[in-house]
Amino acid sequence: MADLEQLQRKLTERGYRCSVFETAPEAVDYLKGSLSGKTIGFGGSITAREMGLYEALSQSNTCRWHWDGASLADAADTQVYISSLNAVAETGELVNIDGAGNRVASGLYGHEKVIFVVGTNKIAPDLEQAIWRARNIAAPKNAQRLGKQTPCAAKADRCYDCSSPDRICGAMVLYWKRPTCIPEMELVLVKEDLGY
Ligand code: SF4
Repeated sequence: MADLEQLQRKLTERGYRCSVFETAPEAVDYLKGSLSGKTIGFGGSITAREMGLYEALSQSNTCRWHWDGASLADAADTQVYISSLNAVAETGELVNIDGAGNRVASGLYGHEKVIFVVGTNKIAPDLEQAIWRARNIAAPKNAQRLGKQTPCAAKADRCYDCSSPDRICGAMVLYWKRPTCIPEMELVLVKEDLGY
């Protein structure tokens, strides 16, 4: 298990807020309490879906998610944006791969607050292994989930750096620190396995 206190310090040094929760329901309660009345856009996130976050936050917020029929543009036009990450390095760097681009774009620009909900299964010892995780664990599992015709999808064993028309890896964003156009970024870490 990673040293979460040290990781919190590293993330704080890089300009993020960081909250740690034992369980997903505790994290959901915290977010319900801190976000009431906001417009909230969601990126594609198995973690958010496993947490029931969209349903919980829709009780007292205007939530927009393309997985619930909203357009990508509407989800981008919100005060708050929520997604997960593909990997978090214990040294404080964050990694996300995206196919369409909406998730990484909204994680960089256009919102007053960005929140990453992350299970501790996403934590890697350093940047190199975080990138490896994003490319060889998260992306192949997503390709498999989506039924893509890519070499990684059959066994979700590793990335083949394919040139398939179905490739889901369009862009990879590495956060060294909080981008200044996003006034507030927060990692909500949950001590559970969530998403990929
Ligand atoms: S680049 Fe291709 S093979 Fe590699 S994870 Fe993405 S879709 Fe799979």
